[in-house]
Amino acid sequence: MKSGVGKTGVVAVRSGGPSDRPRCVLLRADMDALPVEETNDVPYRSRHPGKMHACGHDGHVAIGLEVARRLGGLALGGTVKLAFQPAEEVSHGAQAMIADGVLDAPTVNAAFGIHLWNDLPVGTVGVMAGPIMASVDEFEITILGRGGHAAAPHQTVDPVLVAAHVVTALQSLVARRRNPFEEGVVSITQVNAGHAFNVIPGRADLRGTVRTFGGRFFDDAPALVEETAQGIAAAFGARAEVRYRRLSGPLVNDAHMAALMAEVAAQVVGKENVKSGVRTMGGEDMSYFLQRVPGCFAFVGSGPRNGKPSPHHSAGFDIDEESLVIGAEVMSRVALRYLEGG
Ligand SMILES: [Zn+2]
Ligand SMILES: [Zn+2]
Repeated sequence: MKSGVGKTGVVAVRSGGPSDRPRCVLLRADMDALPVEETNDVPYRSRHPGKMHACGHDGHVAIGLEVARRLGGLALGGTVKLAFQPAEEVSHGAQAMIADGVLDAPTVNAAFGIHLWNDLPVGTVGVMAGPIMASVDEFEITILGRGGHAAAPHQTVDPVLVAAHVVTALQSLVARRRNPFEEGVVSITQVNAGHAFNVIPGRADLRGTVRTFGGRFFDDAPALVEETAQGIAAAFGARAEVRYRRLSGPLVNDAHMAALMAEVAAQVVGKENVKSGVRTMGGEDMSYFLQRVPGCFAFVGSGPRNGKPSPHHSAGFDIDEESLVIGAEVMSRVALRYLEGG
C-alpha cells in the first residue's frame, strides 16, 4: 500500500497471475466530500461543520475497502490496483494520481469504477458504452466599461447591460451554433457587478460552465465563448476579457469493457435491472483514467425503491445502503472477470 499518491490518494496493490502474461486492473474509488452543511438527523451524520458526503463518495470508499477484503483472500489471475482518489469534485485528483504514476509499475491495462446514483432506485445498475458523463469547462468573463452616474448613462459604458446581452448570446450558442445532434449545455452561474443603486459600475464579472460529450461543439466552445463575449462587448463600446479552462474531458466507456460490466451487473441484480441509457451532463475525472486505458464506469442505484431520492450535492443527501453491497459485488466480479481474460 502507498499513500500520498496525488497528494492524499492511497493505492493498494494485490499482485497475482502469471509473470509471463501480466495483466493489471485498476479499481477506482473517489473519496472527497463537499462544502455543504448536512441536515440529516442520523447517527452517521457528518461531524465536520460545513462539510458532508453529499455525493456518496464515502460509499465508494466503503465499497473499495470491501472489494479489497474480498479479493485479498482469493487467488487472482493478475494484479488488482485499488486507487482511492482525492479531489474528484474539483477535477484535480485523477490527474494528480496519474502524474504520480498510478497507471505505471505495474502498467494498468483496464480501469473500472462506479458512482452510487440516487437517480436510480437501489437494485438497479446503469451501464452503457460510449460517452456517459460530460466534459467540464469553466470560463470567467470580465466586462470592462466606464462607470458613472445612473442618471447619466450616456456618459458611461454600462457593463451591466453588456453582461445581460452576453448572457443571452451565450445561451444562443447552444440554440444556434451547436449541431442539435450533439449534447451541449452552457450555464452562466455567477454574475457580479455594482455596489449602489445610483452608480453605473465600471466592470461586470460573469462565470459559468460548458458541458458536452465531445464533438464539434466541444472543440469550438472556447473560441465561441471568447468571440461572442468580445463581439457583444465591442458592439457596446466595452471590452471583454475571457479566461477559459478545460477541467475534464467527456467520460467515455469502452464498448468491450461496458459489455463485461453489464454482464457481471446482470449476475448481481438480474438482467432486467441493468439499465442502458443512463447518462448525465455532470462531469467526472474518472475520464482521465479512461482516456488512457480502456475501461468502464457504471452507476449503481442508491435511491429509495419507492419515493423521492435526495439529490446529489444536497444537504439532505443519503443513500440506501444495500447499494454498497451491490457496488462491492459488481466491482469485485468485474475485476475477477477481467483478469480471467474477459
Ligand atoms: Zn459530486
Ligand atoms: Zn460524485
